[in-house]
Amino acid sequence: MKHTDIKKVLFDADMVGTDTVVCGWVRTFRDSAQVAFLELSDGTAFQKLQVVIDKNSLSVDPEATKLGASVCVKGTVVPAFRGTGSELNAKEVILLGKCPPEYPIQKKRTTLEFLRGMPHLRLRTNTFAAVFRVRSVAAQAIHRYFHERGYYYINAPLITASDCEGAGEMFRVTTQPWNAPYKTEEEYYKNDFFGVKAGLSVSGQLEGEVAATAFGKIYTFGPSFRAENSNTTRHLAEFWHVEPEIAFAELPDVIEIAEDMLRYLVRAVLEECPEELKFFDSFVEKGLIEKLTHVANSDFAVCSYSDAVALLEKENARFEFPVHWGSDLQSEHEKFLTEVVFKRPVFVTDYPKEIKAFYMKQNADGKTVAATDLLVPGIGEIIGGSEREADLEKLRTAMKERGMSEDAYRQYLDLRRFGSVPHGGFGLGFERFVMYCTGMENIRDVTLFPRSVKNIM
Ligand code: ATP
Ligand code: MN
Repeated sequence: MKHTDIKKVLFDADMVGTDTVVCGWVRTFRDSAQVAFLELSDGTAFQKLQVVIDKNSLSVDPEATKLGASVCVKGTVVPAFRGTGSELNAKEVILLGKCPPEYPIQKKRTTLEFLRGMPHLRLRTNTFAAVFRVRSVAAQAIHRYFHERGYYYINAPLITASDCEGAGEMFRVTTQPWNAPYKTEEEYYKNDFFGVKAGLSVSGQLEGEVAATAFGKIYTFGPSFRAENSNTTRHLAEFWHVEPEIAFAELPDVIEIAEDMLRYLVRAVLEECPEELKFFDSFVEKGLIEKLTHVANSDFAVCSYSDAVALLEKENARFEFPVHWGSDLQSEHEKFLTEVVFKRPVFVTDYPKEIKAFYMKQNADGKTVAATDLLVPGIGEIIGGSEREADLEKLRTAMKERGMSEDAYRQYLDLRRFGSVPHGGFGLGFERFVMYCTGMENIRDVTLFPRSVKNIM
């Protein structure tokens, strides 16, 4: 269908005075004796286009004025009567698809929880239009950031035989029937599609390291799957994961890149989504724009795990789970550090090796590893990264301590056998970043069709 984007009609001054055609959905309708006003949206702009109908010269099918109906309007572009931009004086309004009154997305403000029950329709609200514009802009900015800096874009496999961090977090991939007649696990997997136990990848990191130790700088940007039973507002069973991996890099380099990337992404969203951010600032998180502007322009804090624990221990009375050296930081501790102590994003570094993965570089103290988590206000952990253990013998020892089979990680060990280099990387949870930029408090509200425990609508 030949038509013009509403964004262009609204803001391109050259359009004024011309006749054009727009297509969209009716978002509001106001009627008076002489004129009627239709507000249309087509997804190209957060603002709606006002269509002015002179009732003396044009009669319009009432169905074409119903909330949610889709229409095509021919008319003349004129400067907006109020405010900036343009509006459209209608010459013809054609109904494309009518929308009966039981349409559940009505003008009155509904709750996000109510809208979660209709993921296929909720996108037609201002909130979701804004969320998904930010998400789209952020995704483009991620590719731009790495591409401009010479990274290869790599696609790691989603089906894998290696269980990246151990522990039963992986979804299994199988073609066996639910009542497969085998007596042992071994027999089951031998008869399964791959002949071994397979699952959906929890991270593209191991393959990322393979690529980084050939191409230098790489990133992946794709889905990761975690069968974790944590029904929180920050976890999904399927989420999008940005994972750069960099050769010839140590922990401080990894931190520098993570900070630079995050600030670049925040700046991109500030520049490209001003209307959306104004909306979130007014209706979702007061002060959001100020927060993001501050993040884009000031340094993040860095604090060792040991120092963080010393700070937290003094506050143990306020926590549900008291902290001591060696304990994993819970969400309440992470939030306290970033929101109360540092009041800005903070990299916590050098965690006890027992609470981190086998592949992290062991520090000289024999107790900690060169890991870092980036914590941000409102969310907690948004990035997890580390320098990887590049020393073959140390890596083998760490695996042995965890009872891991060297056989399953032969390729991974080869990277340390043949031209091993210091290298590292991190994983950014893309949805958590979108939450951070929009102020949305539930990860289910920044994902098209969220998948979580007992939820696959
Ligand atoms: P958390 O402690 O919050 O469960 P994690 O330490 O298990 O996260 P990592 O393995 O470090 O997570 O993954 C890197 C990043 O991926 C995290 O910092 C987070 O932003 C994101 N992430 C991890 N698990 C999920 C999930 N289930 N849903 C959405 N994002 C996730
Ligand atoms: Mn982590």
